[in-house]
Amino acid sequence: MRIEEVSARRIWDSRGRPTVEAVVRLQGGVGARGAAPAGASRGSKEAIELRDGGERLGGLGVERAVQAVREIIAPAIIGMDPRCQRDIDSLMIEIDGTPNKSRLGGNATTAVSLAVFNAAAAGAGVPVWRKAADEARQDPELPLPEIQIFGGGTHAQRRIDIQDLMVMAPGAANFDECLELTAEIYHAAGALMRERGRLAGVADEGGWWPDFKCNEEALETLVLAIEKAGASPGVDAVISLDMAASELWSDDRYRLSLDGAELDSGGMLDLLSSWIEAYPIVSIEDPFSEHDMEGMKSFTEAHGERIQIVGDDCLVTNPARIRDAANENACNAALLKVNQAGTLSETLDAHAAAREAGWRSIVSARSGETEDATISHLATGWGAGQLKVGSFARSERMAKWNECVRIQDEVGARAFAGGKPLSGTWWAESRQA
Ligand code: PGA
Ligand code: ZN
Repeated sequence: MRIEEVSARRIWDSRGRPTVEAVVRLQGGVGARGAAPAGASRGSKEAIELRDGGERLGGLGVERAVQAVREIIAPAIIGMDPRCQRDIDSLMIEIDGTPNKSRLGGNATTAVSLAVFNAAAAGAGVPVWRKAADEARQDPELPLPEIQIFGGGTHAQRRIDIQDLMVMAPGAANFDECLELTAEIYHAAGALMRERGRLAGVADEGGWWPDFKCNEEALETLVLAIEKAGASPGVDAVISLDMAASELWSDDRYRLSLDGAELDSGGMLDLLSSWIEAYPIVSIEDPFSEHDMEGMKSFTEAHGERIQIVGDDCLVTNPARIRDAANENACNAALLKVNQAGTLSETLDAHAAAREAGWRSIVSARSGETEDATISHLATGWGAGQLKVGSFARSERMAKWNECVRIQDEVGARAFAGGKPLSGTWWAESRQA
């Protein structure tokens, strides 16, 4: 199997902004694509998205990244065996020669890395999830979905401070059941907003626009939506938050503008602890800023036994950072975003580092997405356990959920990660006592 042609083009993401798509064609004509997503609340140590700057398209053009694929990456990898993913990814890292892929662009390397993987699967005539499973030496398992009901933070012009209010259905028997319950909750939440005269469209990832008076009203509404959907909060459906707290942090304070609050690290710990008491929250991502690792540590010390504490901005899908954070007990789960690392091999290494630390992994999309659904295959093939792609609306999101439904027909509904360890039963019981 040999790579015969590598091309790239500018396509458009779900926010109508330019992004990079790569196409890898093999000898014999089989080929496949890969597209780079784009974040809005990025960690400072992520792989750099190479943008053109200047006036056009707000400086977000990707001509330089497209050229990097055509003129630098393509000549280097043509002739290579697409099954040698690690060699190809390493070669891109070497050619780039920077610590953050700022020469070639993480958007260029991500698109190529995904296209190579998809092409190798197509060339071998196997589904991408199967190839991912072989590579990771895992039994494929459909992930437990983490689905956004309200969007906030930088995905909703900071209308509320919490970035993602999500639900998980840890008790569901299979992936399909999770989606059905989530659909009921999503629409119940929309109906609640309509009844209040506050239905105002959706945020960047398809969650309802968060027209709330304070952050806690969003949490209360989410619990109501779960009940309205006929589910029991803490038992059938639980809450997962992404605080994206790096975005709230300036001058050593967390500024929650909707609540008019300015909190130091201890104040933030108290606030989040009170929410964990009051609502069936089983997972919080980036509860503290990437610049406040002491905050992350105190929080994990206080709540790490009970809930999942996910590192996104502070880990940026980097195996060394995951190992350091594990040594310091700064969180207990890692978010995995291919374009934070910039290649598939590094993302798989991050997953392996998380697993070695005894952590959970969550494969994740970005707030700017395309119809590329490779991550559904990676989450399943790597047996990552969880998948986060935004809400239950807009086709760049639904493409990923629907791809999982198709994969379910191939791997079987029983190959499902489930979510028993993420159950909120302790919370439900503490309410009854
Ligand atoms: P993004 O953020 O806007 O950078 O994709 C998503 C997240 O924080 O998980
Ligand atoms: Zn995040």
